[in-house]
Amino acid sequence: MYEYSGNVHIHSDYSDGSGSVDDIASYAREAGLDFIVLNDHFSLYQNDEGYINGVLVLQGMEVNDTANHYLAMDIEKTIDKNVEYPQRVIDDVNAQNGIGIIAHPFEKGSPLFHNRRTYPWKDWSVQGFQGIEIWNFLSQWRDGVSGIIKGIYLMINPHSAFIQGPYREALKVLDRYQQEGCRIILAGGSDAHNALLRIGPLKFRISPYDLCFKCINMHILTEERFSGIYLEDREKFYNAMRKGKCWVAYDFFKNSRGFSFVIRSRTEEWGMGESIPLQNSLQAEVRTPYKARVVLMKNGRCWEKSQGQKHVFERIREGVYRVEVFHAQGLRYRPWIFSNSIWVTKN
Ligand SMILES: [Zn+2]
Ligand SMILES: [Zn+2]
Repeated sequence: MYEYSGNVHIHSDYSDGSGSVDDIASYAREAGLDFIVLNDHFSLYQNDEGYINGVLVLQGMEVNDTANHYLAMDIEKTIDKNVEYPQRVIDDVNAQNGIGIIAHPFEKGSPLFHNRRTYPWKDWSVQGFQGIEIWNFLSQWRDGVSGIIKGIYLMINPHSAFIQGPYREALKVLDRYQQEGCRIILAGGSDAHNALLRIGPLKFRISPYDLCFKCINMHILTEERFSGIYLEDREKFYNAMRKGKCWVAYDFFKNSRGFSFVIRSRTEEWGMGESIPLQNSLQAEVRTPYKARVVLMKNGRCWEKSQGQKHVFERIREGVYRVEVFHAQGLRYRPWIFSNSIWVTKN
């Protein structure tokens, strides 16, 4: 398998972001990313896809306005909004064989930004979507701005907003759908806008591209190496996303490149996004590129913990398994890597 890292959920000056696609690709290259997916509001700009400044640049869109934001990728036509019936948006993306991700479903808001306005997902009766964004840079940073002093502090030290990790409510919903057998994926993104905020003579950047691209990223595993040919690599990227061969990580302090999570029998091995028929002697193995605390989650609950770089778990039974990883920083542990799941099923 080949690993690539990148950022999904980015806004350019085609909608309410401040940078051109070319600028954004430059920032992504500087951050060491292999791919980016832009999701501008309301429209699709597929002519701006390709390898730009050495980065695979793909175009999706973000559908809906006041609530039920949905990231649509691998589509050819613009998707119409439908805030009232988001199932129709999901169905429209599926009609194009696209990939749809429920965006920032559980924002909390800030009193300093439009009086706590949020854009939550409101309808959990929906079916057929492909993923949930469990961690969103802009949402979580803004949620942390509970007042002016905290806002100034988070401008100087933005990373302190992310110590709480992905939204637990979003992970809970992900776990519920996955236990029901839905092969949805967990996704994370920056929602980078690089918006300029003026307070008197002071100027601040909200969700700046250069910072965002080093924080909440996605890593994918492909069966074939990227060739550098845009259309070929586009297919490899979307295949990996569809199959759930991915994880979300806060890469700023320690890059998660090299992470792995597999379950193996004596003769075979399965990775994230795959299903295994239940059998004797199954073993999970997690490798982390640095020493870390690993929590093996089974059906949404802590099943076993381990400390170090190589982590082996013996008691693998029927269930849905994923991994949460935390790295030490000073006296505390920071949320770091959140893997997609592996299913162990009875038939
Ligand atoms: Zn949104
Ligand atoms: Zn957005």
